[in-house]
Amino acid sequence: MSVLDIRVLGDPVLRQETTPVATVTDEHRQLIDDMFETMRAARGIGLAAPQVGRLERITVIEVDDGSGPIALVNPEIVAREGTIKGEEGCLSIPDVFGDVERAAAVEVQALDRDGRPIMVKGAELLSRCMQHEIDHLHGKLFIDHLSFLKRRAALDEWSRLRDKYPGLVVRPAAAAARHKSTEL
Ligand SMILES: [Zn+2]
Repeated sequence: MSVLDIRVLGDPVLRQETTPVATVTDEHRQLIDDMFETMRAARGIGLAAPQVGRLERITVIEVDDGSGPIALVNPEIVAREGTIKGEEGCLSIPDVFGDVERAAAVEVQALDRDGRPIMVKGAELLSRCMQHEIDHLHGKLFIDHLSFLKRRAALDEWSRLRDKYPGLVVRPAAAAARHKSTEL
C-alpha cells in the first residue's frame, strides 16, 4: 500500500465528474487500499478518488462510530431523512471549515471492495461523511453549500493558505502532525 498525494482546491480534478466502475478489479482494490492508507495518514475520516487525482467513482470512509472501514464503489443516495447543520472541513481545503446543512440520515446503495452490492444506512457523522464524499464524486465541494458570503469568506481564507501547498498537493505524511479529525 502507498500513501498518495492529496490534491487541494485549485486542482481541476476536484471539479471533474467521475466515471462509474463497471467491474471491480484488483486495480480498484489497490486504489481502495491506497486511499484508506492515505486517509489514515492524513487523519481524515473520508476520502474520494478525485482527491488523489483519480476519476473512478470510489470513496472510502472510516468514522469513529464502530461502523468500521467502508469502501463505496458507485455510491448513490437512495433515501434521505430530515436535515441537520454541522461543521465540515475537507482534506482538499485544509484548515478551512464551514457549517453545512445536510440530510440527517441517508441510505446509500453501492458496491463493496469485492464488487458485491451493499446498502449502508448512516446517521450523524457517517451520514454527513457519505454525503460529503458522494459530492466529491460529482465535482462538488462542501464550500458549494455555503451561503454566498460564507463561501467568499472561505475562499478568501483559502487564498491566504494555498501558498503552503506548492503544486496544489498535500503529502499526508507531512500533514499527519495536524490533529483536526473532522476533515473529509
Ligand atoms: Zn472533502
